[in-house]
Amino acid sequence: MQSAKYILPVFCALTLASCGNKRDSDKQILAVSIEPQRQILEQIAGPSFEVMTVLGKGADPETFDPSTSQRVALEDADIYFATDVLPFEDKLRNTLTEHTRYVPTSGNVHLIYGTHSHDHHSDHNDGDTAGKAVDPHYWSSFEGVGSIATSMLDALIDKYPDLETEFRDRYSQFIHTTDSLKERLSEQLASADYRTFAVWHPSLSYFAREFSLEQLPLGVEGKDMSAKALAEAIDHARADSVKVFFFQPGIDSRQAEVMNEGIGSKLVAVNLLDYNWQEQLKYIADEIARPQ
Ligand SMILES: [Zn+2]
Repeated sequence: MQSAKYILPVFCALTLASCGNKRDSDKQILAVSIEPQRQILEQIAGPSFEVMTVLGKGADPETFDPSTSQRVALEDADIYFATDVLPFEDKLRNTLTEHTRYVPTSGNVHLIYGTHSHDHHSDHNDGDTAGKAVDPHYWSSFEGVGSIATSMLDALIDKYPDLETEFRDRYSQFIHTTDSLKERLSEQLASADYRTFAVWHPSLSYFAREFSLEQLPLGVEGKDMSAKALAEAIDHARADSVKVFFFQPGIDSRQAEVMNEGIGSKLVAVNLLDYNWQEQLKYIADEIARPQ
C-alpha cells in the first residue's frame, strides 16, 4: 500500500517549478526514474541541465504508480532515462509526447532473473530466462552504474552534439572516480571472512555477483511470514554464518527486526535508492568486511 505521505515529495520532485523554486529557464530539462541515476546524470551532463526524478523519496519502485500530474511534468524533459526494468516506466513510456525521448540505461548489464517471484516484467522471454521475472536492482553495482553512465553519454551526445567534448570530459572524470571506488571495495571485500549476508528483499543481487559474495534473501513480499517460516529462515541464516542483515526501512517488513534478533546478526538499514549511491555501497562493503 502506498501511503499518503509519499505522494507530496513525489509531486514536488517532478514539478520543481511549481513547488516554490522557479525553474531556471536557461536550463534544459532531463528526467530519470530513480535518484542514483540523477547523481550519475548530473555528473555527466553538467550544470546547464536540470534533472528531475520520477520516483519520490520513500516510494517502492516495484509498486509505484505515477499520477497524471507526474506524466504531465515529464513532458518538459528532452530525454527520459529509464532503468527499463521497473513496471511504472512502461506506463510512462506509453504516454510520452514526441518531445521526450525514452532512453533505457540497462543496455550493458547482464540482467539477473529468478530472484523476484512477482512476475511484473515477464516480457524479457529468451532462452532459460523465459517466464522468470527480471531482478531490477542493477544500479546497486558498478556494472550497472557503468551501463547507466554510458547510455547517458551516448544519448546526450546524440541530442546535443555541440556539447560532445564537455560530456566526454565529464564522463571520463566520472568513470575514473567510480573505478577507484570499485577497486577499493574489491580489495576490502576480497578478505571478508563472512561472505554470506542476509537481506529482507533481494536488492543486492548485482552487488553480490560483482564481489563474489552470497546474498541470502529471507523475506516474503507483501504479507507477514508465519512463525514456522520465520524459524526456518533464522535456521538457514545461522547455518550460513550470517553476520549482517541489510534492511530497507519503509519498504521492507518490520519482521526483519524479529528475524535479525533470532539470527543474532547486525541489522543494517540501507537506502539503495539514495542519491549518494557511492556512500551506500561503501557503507555496505564496510559492514560486510568489518571484522566480527
Ligand atoms: Zn526487488
